[in-house]
Amino acid sequence: MQITIALTKGRILKETLPLLGLAGIEPVEDISQSRKLLFDTNREGVRLLILRGSDVPTYVQFGAADIGVAGKDTLLEHGAEGLYEPLDLGIARCQLMTAGIVGVLPRSGRIRVATKYVNIARRFYAERGRQVDIIKLYGAMELAPIMTLADEIVDIVDTGNTLKANGLEAREAIADVSSRLIVNKAAMKMKHQAIQQIVDSLRQAVG
Ligand code: AMP
Repeated sequence: MQITIALTKGRILKETLPLLGLAGIEPVEDISQSRKLLFDTNREGVRLLILRGSDVPTYVQFGAADIGVAGKDTLLEHGAEGLYEPLDLGIARCQLMTAGIVGVLPRSGRIRVATKYVNIARRFYAERGRQVDIIKLYGAMELAPIMTLADEIVDIVDTGNTLKANGLEAREAIADVSSRLIVNKAAMKMKHQAIQQIVDSLRQAVG
């Protein structure tokens, strides 16, 4: 039986591989030294896909991967359709926050919010009855308030150094973020034993 695990490249991958190793799953070649996106592992029938974070829930939702590792931010933005989220891996911790220019009070009335998390932002402001225009960006959100594109941004904050370096301050916390294990709902039924074994060994590895 084939089990495909979709991993998020970049910082989450660096923290995921040691956990997978503890769970007995290791790629047969060094992922960081290769441009390949699909890797066999030491476990017969288990392979790894290396994807952009925002594509991991899509692969798992449609069953192109059975299991995935994705940030809670990505999952909140994508929605949970077709997915189980059985395990918090406790890695790549950070917070989703609103932020704006230091010392500039948020305006009352309609404001512009720049973010790549358009669904999360829309929900967050709507729940508070606040009128916003959401502007979708793909990166460098910190520039938007400085260049008067937006009054606030919704972004990931870890140490806060990026905000600080750009004259911004965090305002409101939206959600605590860490990486989660996700499983395709149909695969969980069809390949129950194999998937449950991986979930259990990862749960042990997380401790
Ligand atoms: P920091 O300067 O430490 O607050 O880090 C902020 C930037 O690092 C954010 O704009 C994100 O792009 C990125 N970042 C930090 N932590 C994470 C994480 N756990 N997952 C994804 N991106 C992150």
